[in-house]
Amino acid sequence: MLDIKITAALTKKEKPADNILGFGRYFTDHMFVMDYDLGEGWHDPRIIPYGPIALDPSAMVFHYAQELFEGLKAYRCEDGHIQLFRPDKNIERMNNTCRRMCVPEVPADDALQAIKALVDYEKDWVPHSEGTSLYIRPFIIATEPQLGVHPSKKYQFIIILSPVGSYYAGGLDPVKICIERKYVRCVKGGTGEAKVGGNYAASLLGQKEAEARGYAQVLWLDGIERKYIDEVGAMNVFFVIDKTVITPSLADGNILPGVTRRSCIELLKKWGYNVEERKISIDEVIEAHKNGKLTESFGTGTAAVISPVGEYNDNGNVMIINDGKIGPVSQKLYDNLTALQWGKIEDDMGWIVKVN
Ligand SMILES: *Cc1c(COP(=O)(O)O)cnc(C)c1O
Repeated sequence: MLDIKITAALTKKEKPADNILGFGRYFTDHMFVMDYDLGEGWHDPRIIPYGPIALDPSAMVFHYAQELFEGLKAYRCEDGHIQLFRPDKNIERMNNTCRRMCVPEVPADDALQAIKALVDYEKDWVPHSEGTSLYIRPFIIATEPQLGVHPSKKYQFIIILSPVGSYYAGGLDPVKICIERKYVRCVKGGTGEAKVGGNYAASLLGQKEAEARGYAQVLWLDGIERKYIDEVGAMNVFFVIDKTVITPSLADGNILPGVTRRSCIELLKKWGYNVEERKISIDEVIEAHKNGKLTESFGTGTAAVISPVGEYNDNGNVMIINDGKIGPVSQKLYDNLTALQWGKIEDDMGWIVKVN
């Protein structure tokens, strides 16, 4: 058990109206911080007023990007209580990322206690309107002031909270995605399966070029053969071909193991769908589209839950999927996941953790 010290903010911010929230633009009054020093371990867990942090300009995070993060949400149910969706899976993944980045792990019980304590302390910030939630962003940065390239001896584990709006104010709107043939996100043996800022820094140029052409995100292909599908921007990706639901397997370590991805696979299997986690080439998808067998594609992630894909563009060759409309598998997953998350149906999967 952590002994979390609390310092209350002297002034509280005015809370934005639910209909202007957007994503990741507003932050609550407090944050959780805990320090790590080699030899001492994690210490001084505290909830303090949200605000700028002072770091030495030589802090290693600024130079060698020894940083990692997580993303999950807290949901307000109709009876007023607040709950989390599979936070144990986020914490397990955070510690997997820690090992890959030579960052000391945070004991799972301590991480969950910190998340729950901060969310409970800030519970008035969990918005009320349909589809809104409180986004939770835990992250760890290397703070040792030193320019040698080696794992830092000092870290900070920080959690910030952001009330976020409904992703789909006007219903589930399919997105347009560009197939990325020029840049790669990662290679086998790299950090593809770790949730680190560095992966995103490397993805920005491809993303920016796709946006300039009117596309929301890019579909990444594997970095070696440039042939197999990895994932989309900040989402895992699924294809429904000939009634089988196919998603790239995690075996090569190129793909971020999404909690939403895993939950979709588990639900689909429970419902009796044929689900395959395997290598899937872009040529197989193009062929299936030509033959009329590609009936749906969708991305999965905490932010949007399910994001149907209405169009893929491969160097100017456009593939329209399901007439650019949401398909039945995407809709069913979205309806069920969101009903579980907001406590509208009974949690027969054991995925919900109550905060209060
Ligand atoms: C976080 C993330 C996802 C989605 O993971 P969820 O746990 O479902 O939110 C997918 N891809 C990348 C690159 C990510 O960073």
